[in-house]
Amino acid sequence: MDSHTKESSLQRTFSIVKPDAVRKGHTGGILAMIEAAGFRIAAIKKLSISKPQAAGFYAVHAARPFFESLTTFMSSGPIYVMVLEKENAIADLRKLMGATNPANAEEGTIRKKFAGSIEENSIHGSDAEETAKFEIGYFFAGYELE
Ligand code: GDP
Repeated sequence: MDSHTKESSLQRTFSIVKPDAVRKGHTGGILAMIEAAGFRIAAIKKLSISKPQAAGFYAVHAARPFFESLTTFMSSGPIYVMVLEKENAIADLRKLMGATNPANAEEGTIRKKFAGSIEENSIHGSDAEETAKFEIGYFFAGYELE
């Protein structure tokens, strides 16, 4: 495999350290697990989002009964948004995150270790290539990515 082929197999995904984890001081622990799993942090920034901004991000969930609560939660405090890079990044991050409901999350996953509830579950990760593209573009301009 030449270097060009190798480089082209890298994939990017989008992730958020959610407000519950930032509040509890778990940002460092979560980033350590992400880096230990082989991801490169291509971009990261801390910010707070408004409820309408959270609603725009989670627009696909607008019809869900928990949408109101989810957007209130996501705008309740600072978050870290980031772009993560590795081979098979999207699927591998989902695996490292664990199940949406931490009660069902496997040992060794971020949600098993840090999440408090099905809503306050510490981390977001894109679920598909199209989603990753939308989510990276929602929070990052091209010049912020290296
Ligand atoms: P994810 O891909 O594992 O993050 O899960 P989903 O895409 O299904 O849901 C998006 C986010 O909505 C989750 O990470 C939770 O924060 C929240 N969420 C999902 N299901 C529920 C639920 O049944 N109740 C509540 N309150 N929040 C939920």
